[in-house]
Amino acid sequence: MKRLILALAASVAFAGMSVAQTYPTKPITMIVPFAAGGPTDIVARLVSENMSKTLGQQIVVENVAGAGGTTGITRASQAKPDGYTIMMGHMGTHGAAPALYANLKYDPVKDFEPVGMAAGTPILIVTKKAFPANDMKEFVAYLKANADKVNQAHAGVGAVSHMTCILLNSQIGVKPTAVPYGGTGPALNDLVSGQVDYMCDQIVNLVSQVKAGSIKALAIASAERSPALPDVPTTKEAGLPEYQVAAWNAVFAPKGTPKDVVAKLTSALNTALDDAGTRKRLEDLGGVLPTKDERGGEWLGKFVASEVARWNPVLKASK
Ligand code: ASP
Repeated sequence: MKRLILALAASVAFAGMSVAQTYPTKPITMIVPFAAGGPTDIVARLVSENMSKTLGQQIVVENVAGAGGTTGITRASQAKPDGYTIMMGHMGTHGAAPALYANLKYDPVKDFEPVGMAAGTPILIVTKKAFPANDMKEFVAYLKANADKVNQAHAGVGAVSHMTCILLNSQIGVKPTAVPYGGTGPALNDLVSGQVDYMCDQIVNLVSQVKAGSIKALAIASAERSPALPDVPTTKEAGLPEYQVAAWNAVFAPKGTPKDVVAKLTSALNTALDDAGTRKRLEDLGGVLPTKDERGGEWLGKFVASEVARWNPVLKASK
């Protein structure tokens, strides 16, 4: 009997060790809770390309859009916690959602193993090219006079584009018609073709269209201008100083994913964030790379808790 117990204990220990030692032995799925082509998808594809090289296995991005990102994150949170399903969350799915969804099936703080911050993403206010306002002051005046005629695109209730424009609209005091999409990738297409009037979105989605002049960027809602779009004024410079908000994208695994597996994912993410090519591509799109102190799961876990606590009262008040 004693020998059997010893043998069992040894094989359990060996199994525990071997999972982390050999992981990953097959492709990993990264769930992106929005449509392809938008900012969360762009950040996911950029970092996962380099992580795949480090891990020696392909990370396959799967877009599962719906309900402001909560459909994909719900699915990912319920996946087998073996390291073969991970996800790219953001300030909406892991910050705003609890305030906006009474029946949310996950808790951003308790139901995940945080892997690490991928990128900070400043928020821009952008309009279609033909919008009859060329700066923030004209925009506010036009919106106040014509809110019933204006359409604002967003990526579903709780998405960053939704929550950050709730803030903007409530500061201006307007309630335009909101048009939901499965992500701000498709929303941007409709902004370029002029079918919607404006949106608030993460910079990484917008730089090339702003540079090409196919949409107008009125302001960036951060303290400093972005080196990726140096001509776009801050909201302070543009006359709306109280509108200050920035978003982020981060990698999570489902709760219960073995610690050693999470550590391998964190290390691969850090390698991606140190890779000159990956850094340049993110920075060219306006992404803000996490500092060394802002990396890893422990930091991200605390940050998510602070984001949920920060957004809850703000969003409940503005509803
Ligand atoms: N940026 C989007 C949002 O509004 C989603 C996306 O990444 O497509 O949350």
